[in-house]
Amino acid sequence: MDAKRRIIDLLEEKDEATLRILMLRADAVRRRFLGDAIHLRGLIEFSNHCRRDCLYCGLRRSNKNLVRYRMAPREIFAQAAEAANLGFRTVVLQSGEDPAYTIRALCSLVREIKSELSLAVTLCVGERTREDFLRLKQAGVDRYLLRFETSDPCLFRILKPDSDYERRFRCLEWLKAIGFQVGSGNIVGLPGQTMESLAEDILKFREMRLDMVGLGPFIAHPDTPLQGSRNGSLDLALRVVALTRIMTRTAHMPATTATGTIDREGRQKALQCGANVLMPNLTPVRYRRHYMIYPDKVGVGEDPARCRSRAESMAHSLGRTVGLDEGHSLGPRSAGLDVRKHHA
Ligand code: SAM
Ligand code: SF4
Repeated sequence: MDAKRRIIDLLEEKDEATLRILMLRADAVRRRFLGDAIHLRGLIEFSNHCRRDCLYCGLRRSNKNLVRYRMAPREIFAQAAEAANLGFRTVVLQSGEDPAYTIRALCSLVREIKSELSLAVTLCVGERTREDFLRLKQAGVDRYLLRFETSDPCLFRILKPDSDYERRFRCLEWLKAIGFQVGSGNIVGLPGQTMESLAEDILKFREMRLDMVGLGPFIAHPDTPLQGSRNGSLDLALRVVALTRIMTRTAHMPATTATGTIDREGRQKALQCGANVLMPNLTPVRYRRHYMIYPDKVGVGEDPARCRSRAESMAHSLGRTVGLDEGHSLGPRSAGLDVRKHHA
């Protein structure tokens, strides 16, 4: 049976014993290739302005109910310094697609963070030009996250009406060629998404030889055109995490906030079926509630120190350790799928 058919079968599997084997297998692959350390990345959501209009996202430009904010570079630097003080070795700087942050501004911020704080820097700021990516690399950016969201071109065009499917993948190719550690990912349970397209997403994660894969369930936002749609399920998101771990082996995979929002134990469960990264939120609390991609985001009121200690306790409660180094990519080492249906 080909890999795609096998993945679809496992996404639809009803037999509890087979599913238990899938989760155990994914956990064993994570342990074998990445060990027990959970890497912590401090997340700073520095602007919720966005020029795009993705149908699923609360930051979309047509959402007039959102209070918009933009942190000044010195505020972002101060949060990065706090991250370093709290013991983080990586910061993730994330925002909507906000043209007000020029490449020059981002580069000078990154240079300062790298030279003063010696942190690994991950950017997640959407699509830019190839020249912009080159300049960011030269400024010292280590990693770049850009989810393709769905590999189904028709669904992509509906949900991201002002983006271009081919261009998104071209950006990912540029990022790889320039030498970033590259992360991508998808949203699980989008309205109109089929099991076949989810299987294609997972195959793409492997084919693209990604260093990082981030994914979580779709959560409907009341101020978007997808209000009232059914949320993605934790169960399906966990199956995608497990299958992605088995297929990619070494990719760093966060237990995402969306997974923890849909189910209070969601992140712990993701960490037990393939995930090996947590991203405690270090955005200043006064801005955090406005970074409302979807409603009821977990951890909105917790200060950065508390977010870090919660992540550490989560790791320890699962018998895992907290990574002490930067947690750089180990390089892709993808695999086939060998979860047998009735393997004991
Ligand atoms: N603007 C950048 C971009 O889109 O690449 C980065 C920031 S964006 C807020 C980060 C991620 O949030 C997106 O890649 C998307 O997967 C996720 N997201 C947005 N709306 C969501 C929703 N309603 N449910 C689950 N995830 C969502
Ligand atoms: Fe903007 Fe990213 Fe949200 Fe799309 S997903 S509206 S690009 S912040």
